[in-house]
Amino acid sequence: PMSAVFARSYAGSCLARGRGNPYPFVMDTRAAPLIDPFARPISYLRVSVTDRCDFRCVYCMSENMTFLPKAELLTLEELDRLCSAFVRLGVEKLRLTGGEPLVRKGIMTFFRAMSRHLESGALKELTLTTNGSQLAKYAVELADCGMRRINVSVDTLDVKKFSDITRWGRLPQVLEGIAAAKAAGLRVKINAVALKGFNEDEQFSMTEWCAQEGHDLTWIEVMPMGDLGGEDRLDQYWSLKDVRARYAERFTVTDLAERTGGPARYVRLEETGQKVGFITPLTHNFCESCNRVRLTCTGELFMCLGQEDMADLRAPLRASADDALVEEAIRAAIARKPKGHDFDYSRAVVKGQMSRHMSHTGG
Ligand code: SAM
Ligand code: SF4
Repeated sequence: PMSAVFARSYAGSCLARGRGNPYPFVMDTRAAPLIDPFARPISYLRVSVTDRCDFRCVYCMSENMTFLPKAELLTLEELDRLCSAFVRLGVEKLRLTGGEPLVRKGIMTFFRAMSRHLESGALKELTLTTNGSQLAKYAVELADCGMRRINVSVDTLDVKKFSDITRWGRLPQVLEGIAAAKAAGLRVKINAVALKGFNEDEQFSMTEWCAQEGHDLTWIEVMPMGDLGGEDRLDQYWSLKDVRARYAERFTVTDLAERTGGPARYVRLEETGQKVGFITPLTHNFCESCNRVRLTCTGELFMCLGQEDMADLRAPLRASADDALVEEAIRAAIARKPKGHDFDYSRAVVKGQMSRHMSHTGG
C-alpha cells in the first residue's frame, strides 16, 4: 500500500509539474509516465494479437488446442486504441506476439497503424516475435512499417526434428522467411528453446549458422507454462548455465553489460564476434529491473508473466469511446504490478507453475 501511494503521488507530482510548468518553452503533451509500486518505469508492452497459430510446438500447445471464439478477441481497432493509450502513457517499445501474430487476418493494417507512433517519435521500437512461417510473404511490408529487427523462433536446423517439435511446421518455409527478412533489411534474432536431449547436439551448429548469416542468437530456458500433456517439463529442462559452460570450453566468452530490462543476458563469443543471449527466467532473478507488461488478445493485462493477477482492459475500452476509463484502468493495474514471479525448478518439483499457455500471454 505504501508503494502504491508512492506511485500515485509520483504521478501526481508529474501532473503538478506539468501545470506549474517550470519549463515554459517546452510543452509536454504526454501524460505522466507509468511507474509501478517498486519505482520501475513501464516502457515496454508485449501484445499477443492472436491465440491462434499454424504450428503446435510441443512445449507450447497441445495438438488439439481449442482457441477463443473470435468475438472474444479485441478487434484491430480496439488493439489500436489500447496500444495507443499505452504509448500516450510512456510505452516506447511495442512487441507483437501471439500465438502467431502473422496469421491474424488484417494484421498488417494494425502494424501500419502503429507505425504512426514511430513517425511521431513517441514509440522508439516496433517489433515482432514470429515463428517465421509467413515471413516470405510479409517481410518487405514489415520493414516498410518501420520495423528494424524481429525475433524468429527456431529450435533446430534439422528438417525432421523441426517437424517433430513444431508438429505442423516446415523448416524450409521458415528458412525462406528468414532469408526474406534479411533481404528486406530486417535484423533477425533467432530464439531457440534449450531442450535436453533435443537440441543439445546442435548448440554449435546453430551458433555457426547464425554467425554465417549474421543473426543474433538467444537461448531460452523452457518454462513451466500451459498443460504438461503428460510430459514433464523437468525432463526437458536444459540449464543455460550448462549451455554457457559449453561455449566457454570452445570460445572466449565475454559478459556484456547490456540489459534490456528483461530476463535476457548477453555474452560475446570473441573468436566469431557474435552476440549470444540467454533468457533464464528460472535461474536468475531479473524482476528488479522489469520494465514490461503483457496484453492478451482479449484485453487482459498481465503485470507479471509468472503471476495470475491480471486486469481486464476490454470492459473499460468497450464501455466508452473516450479513452479516460481505459487510461485509469491501466494506471490502476500498474499500481498493483507485483515485485516478481515464483517460478522455481530448484526443488525438483515445478513450483509456481502457471496454468495459462504461453500462446495466450504471449511469449
Ligand atoms: N509464435 C511466435 C513464435 O513462436 O515466435 C510467437 C509466440 S511464442 C509463444 C513466443 C516464444 O515463446 C517462442 O520463442 C517460443 O519458443 C517460446 N515459448 C513457448 N512456450 C515456451 C515454454 N514453455 N518455455 C519457454 N519458451 C516458450
Ligand atoms: Fe505457435 Fe509460437 Fe507456440 Fe510454436 S511457440 S505453437 S509457433 S505460438
